[in-house]
Amino acid sequence: MAAEKSLAIVVRMVEFSETSLVVSLFTRDFGKIGALAKGARRPKSAFEGALDLLSVCRVVFLHKSTDALDLLTEAKLVRRFRAGARDLTRLYAGYYVAELLDELTHPGDPHPDLYDAAEQALAELDGAGSVTAVALRFEMTALRILGHMPSLSECVGCGKPVEAVGRVAFGMLEGGVLCPDCRPGKRQVVSISAEGVKTLQGFADATTEAWRGQTVHPKIWGELRGVLNHYLANLLGKKPKLHEFLGTLAE
Ligand SMILES: [Zn+2]
Repeated sequence: MAAEKSLAIVVRMVEFSETSLVVSLFTRDFGKIGALAKGARRPKSAFEGALDLLSVCRVVFLHKSTDALDLLTEAKLVRRFRAGARDLTRLYAGYYVAELLDELTHPGDPHPDLYDAAEQALAELDGAGSVTAVALRFEMTALRILGHMPSLSECVGCGKPVEAVGRVAFGMLEGGVLCPDCRPGKRQVVSISAEGVKTLQGFADATTEAWRGQTVHPKIWGELRGVLNHYLANLLGKKPKLHEFLGTLAE
């Protein structure tokens, strides 16, 4: 059993016994791990209160070679997510970042770039970043890094460019926009406004930070939630818990 070190975000915590916790950590170097934190519920534990949902920690753990839980031996707090105390909206958006990390990734599949994007999203939610913009940017970034980005400019059926004018067909099962030739006969097709498609394209573009200047109009946010909630639920095979909350942000 080798002792491994990494930066990690606490994405889930479950009480294991009167004194211990089982934690899901999204680590920068090893991807998602499940670890037992013995004694973490004692007032004076080796973890010094670092294990808190959405905390960023520097952890040391013993990596088990079987599918047993890893053993967490140390966790030093780097940054606690504090926004929950002043704004529940920010807290729930933070939970959504954690839910996506937990649900979209597999144990032992590291994605340092996704870790960095998540840490940045949490810092911005904890600060003054726009909740809808930060959440949408993180969703698109996670989909891109994990190879699930829907096609937004080219028809997912034939590859022809699809111009964002009027209303654009989006195939949930195909995973992207459809040209008029490819649309007939497809199941689970919704139509998105041109503005909705352009908004998605803007937030999906990894080459620029221009999304920061983009506001998501409440009407467009509502429309995009309909599309993305459906798309993510298909991808995960279940409805993410926080989707209901995200819908309320538009109101
Ligand atoms: Zn086509």
